[in-house]
Amino acid sequence: MTDADALRDQDERWMRRALAEAAAAEALGEVPVGAVVVRGGELVAAGHNLTHTLQDPSAHAEMVAIRRAAQALGEWRLLACTLYVTLEPCAMCSGAIVLARIPRLVFAAHDPKAGMSGSLANLVQHPRLNHRVQLTTGVLADEAGEALRAFFRARRRNRVNPRDTADAPSPGGGADGS
Ligand SMILES: [Zn+2]
Repeated sequence: MTDADALRDQDERWMRRALAEAAAAEALGEVPVGAVVVRGGELVAAGHNLTHTLQDPSAHAEMVAIRRAAQALGEWRLLACTLYVTLEPCAMCSGAIVLARIPRLVFAAHDPKAGMSGSLANLVQHPRLNHRVQLTTGVLADEAGEALRAFFRARRRNRVNPRDTADAPSPGGGADGS
């Protein structure tokens, strides 16, 4: 096995853990996005979207995982950590990733409507910011995108929280070739 194969296996393994977090969010009626922070091959913290549960617009999966990781490590700089998340980070979360000095970001599905780690802009690799993040995209993108699409399909059917569908992400635009 080459180093690249080993890294891909490792990335898929941690993205599965992030997908499990996304499923936990969905069980609460939250948009299914999950994130984990990993250091040295070990889980530091996990989180999922809690925006509705907490009525907190900042309670995205990445923010929850980053806060928990900083608490667990007793350090606001998440040095030597990798953040795995099932959907491309928004502006807030991309900014928090830079502020936390996270060296590496791996995300699954692109978010062509709100993604700020490559889609609308790329804050995590902005040439004028003093921290740039190593970026890997598309890991298990089909699974992550399908979980989101299924969630919004079901919600449209049930007409639960119809006001939210207007700002729903439409992930996986790149993943299915569109
Ligand atoms: Zn976000």
